[in-house]
Amino acid sequence: MTARKRDDAAKGGEDSIRTGLSEDSIRLAFLDNLFYVQGRFLEVASLDDKYKALAYTVRDRLLHRWVATVRTYQQTNPRTVCYLSAEYLPGPFMGNNLLNLGISEVTRKALAGLGIELDDLLEHEEEPGLGNGGLGRLAACFMDSLATLQIPAISYGIRYEFGIFNQRIRDGEQVETTDNWLRYGNPWEVRRPHIACTVKLGGRTESYHDEAGRWRVRWLPSETFRGVPIDTPILGHGVNTVNLMRLWSAEAAEGFDFHAFNRGDYYGAVVREVRSETISKVLYPNDEPEIGKRLRLIQQHFFVTCSLQDMLRVLGTTELPPERFHEKFCVQLNDTHPAIAVAELMRLLVDEHHLDWDLAWQVTHNSFAYTNHTLLPEALEKWPVPLFESLLPRHLEIIYEINARFLDEVRMRFPFDEARVRRMSIIDESGPRYVRMAHLACVGSFAINGVAELHSRLLKETVLRDFYDLWPEKFQNKTNGVTPRRFVMLANPGLARLLNETIDSSWENDLTQLRALEKYADDAAFLERWRDVKRERKAHLGLLISRLCGARVDPDSLFDVQAKRIHEYKRQHLNVLHIVTLYNRIKHDPSSDIVPRTFVFGGKAAPGYFMAKLMIRLINAVGEVVNRDPAVAGRLKVVFLPNFSVKLGHALYPAADLSEQISTAGKEASGTGNMKFAMNGALTIGTLDGANVEIREEVGAENFFLFGLTAEEVEHRLAAGYRPRDLYENDAELKGALDLIGSGLFSHGDRDAFRPLIDNLLNSDPYLVLADYASYIACQEAVSGVWRDPARWTRMSICNVARMGKFSSDRSIAEYCRDIWKVSAVPVVL
Ligand SMILES: *Cc1c(COP(=O)(O)O)cnc(C)c1O
Repeated sequence: MTARKRDDAAKGGEDSIRTGLSEDSIRLAFLDNLFYVQGRFLEVASLDDKYKALAYTVRDRLLHRWVATVRTYQQTNPRTVCYLSAEYLPGPFMGNNLLNLGISEVTRKALAGLGIELDDLLEHEEEPGLGNGGLGRLAACFMDSLATLQIPAISYGIRYEFGIFNQRIRDGEQVETTDNWLRYGNPWEVRRPHIACTVKLGGRTESYHDEAGRWRVRWLPSETFRGVPIDTPILGHGVNTVNLMRLWSAEAAEGFDFHAFNRGDYYGAVVREVRSETISKVLYPNDEPEIGKRLRLIQQHFFVTCSLQDMLRVLGTTELPPERFHEKFCVQLNDTHPAIAVAELMRLLVDEHHLDWDLAWQVTHNSFAYTNHTLLPEALEKWPVPLFESLLPRHLEIIYEINARFLDEVRMRFPFDEARVRRMSIIDESGPRYVRMAHLACVGSFAINGVAELHSRLLKETVLRDFYDLWPEKFQNKTNGVTPRRFVMLANPGLARLLNETIDSSWENDLTQLRALEKYADDAAFLERWRDVKRERKAHLGLLISRLCGARVDPDSLFDVQAKRIHEYKRQHLNVLHIVTLYNRIKHDPSSDIVPRTFVFGGKAAPGYFMAKLMIRLINAVGEVVNRDPAVAGRLKVVFLPNFSVKLGHALYPAADLSEQISTAGKEASGTGNMKFAMNGALTIGTLDGANVEIREEVGAENFFLFGLTAEEVEHRLAAGYRPRDLYENDAELKGALDLIGSGLFSHGDRDAFRPLIDNLLNSDPYLVLADYASYIACQEAVSGVWRDPARWTRMSICNVARMGKFSSDRSIAEYCRDIWKVSAVPVVL
């Protein structure tokens, strides 16, 4: 390094040690952080010390842009999107931040100069598992696109101390261990204790007359505690915009209950502190009944009230009055988890800011927009009224008032239709009384959207039909998308390089540019390079499989991958029936000509979901037998990769040849895994469900393996008295597969091991696994047929990637901005 550069670095100029992007300044900054933050020098530094030193080096560069962003927003006071989500699954930050700063390669070189491999540090990072799956990952893709499109946005949520459990497989079964992700500290976050919010809970309400003689209500809570914001900067790709992910952490109100302390109740005071800190302790796994989950309702109220108070605080700094809240902010409700916000904003405006009800309601219902994520009736959130009342007595009163006015509107529009009134009420009174959160969200929002065309249509026809009748103008569709930065550039650098060399890099921020690839689909040399990229990713996954599962897999076999939460509607068991069918064919005819396949599964089951856990046991049990049977050696392999996460997704999506998207039609709202696979050149075998429908439209029916009943056919089959056992009796291969599972072959002779699963399929089969079996098997044969023609397969793969432009989350976000949020880009200059 020259003397001038060293000078410059020290002065904080162009090549400052805190902000410079050159190899020299990154190396200097790294050593500086290692010494002054970690208190280590290179010779004694652990991997974690080095990781942290680099993380702080990167964070300095983010903070520089963050300050510039805040300055810009202070000067222009732009309309701002507030995304409320109980879950975020951002994945590891380091690689993405390097990528978005455009310094991956200089950083690699800077570290190499010190004898450090960047990949070792990337591998070391533990991701925040603050979500269950698709919904939390969508929120993270949206953050990336919001920043990249330079939209002022804050993403609010909960900083769970323990995220989604870690999954291990022991004796073929899922074992959950705690996700202690903060154990060694989190270098990406910044605590902001000075803007903490007060959270009230329980107690009662009372009315009073204020000085002006107006009737008012106040809430006398039985408990209060604090929410402390913990911020993570979110940088866009190739821009200076840094938005905030602001997650709330619960703490005791005063740190200590001094009153109790003075009474000599030292331990009582400590216990109260411990209790308030339990609130943001752990993320609840989904797919379990909500009923009675008191702490979960507290979590929802906790992050919603903190977020709304924070918005009102920001509004105060702009000198806009509370009645103009909806002009400054648009608040998106990611599912109903934050739907309590409708009542909470009313409470804040009416009780604390003293707006009259009608004005407060104008503000409230012009502030919120609601995204629905599910059609499964059992997944629609509802809270028992007594539970709700004991925790949020004032909110219940407000909901009753909202409901009374709303139901009058329904009666006005649909006179003499009390059945409709009962169906639409925010309070379910058909049995024990419940608060229906989806109804609260619909009533309190000016826009309601589904997450794929089919899903949005079915919403209007089924679960939200009455609301559509009343307010058709509120309903929209916003098909999901995923970020190509993380899921192509970061996860598949070989593909990114090939794309850049073949077309140019414009696809990185405009995925529709990939169309230009189509003209190379017949270029033999290009096809060869395309296959090389895939093969390299498959070999990479192969190493991971041997490390995590101890199995050897052949990178030249067809990698057939299903990675997503384990759920009956996602039908991992249909995939298993195909595997067992192939196994049976080989056993009956050892010379049968079968395309060698490696079946890869990944996914967590909710800890209390018996059938999902049994499906994991079945996958592992089949793998154990198939992988060891010399009769199928070289033809079938079955592996279950433990602990599916964003990080594991980086290795899985790019390595897949075939993407399994086989949910029962009408059950998957959108899916986003389907998009990540296809963007990386996997071909899809799928039903007409969720966004599969639109993926098929885009890539062309000839480049998609379609099978199964449509959503309408599923409904008709169920309505007509579906009898799965008849299908079993009349299909020899299906019977053979189910009988083999029932024979105990995969369970050391235990015929009862999988009995509940088999009985469920034979007696009720609510997800129509057997109804789609024959069509699925035939379609898999078509897959094998195409695989035997590598040029054809590769052309299809290229066409898939070339036509995935629609499924960038940049497109989704641009539509939200235009149609719902009414916000536009605010560029930031350094
Ligand atoms: C994308 C993703 C999902 C969603 O997968 P689907 O196939 O859409 O259900 C779930 N978990 C993780 C970790 C993901 O990255």
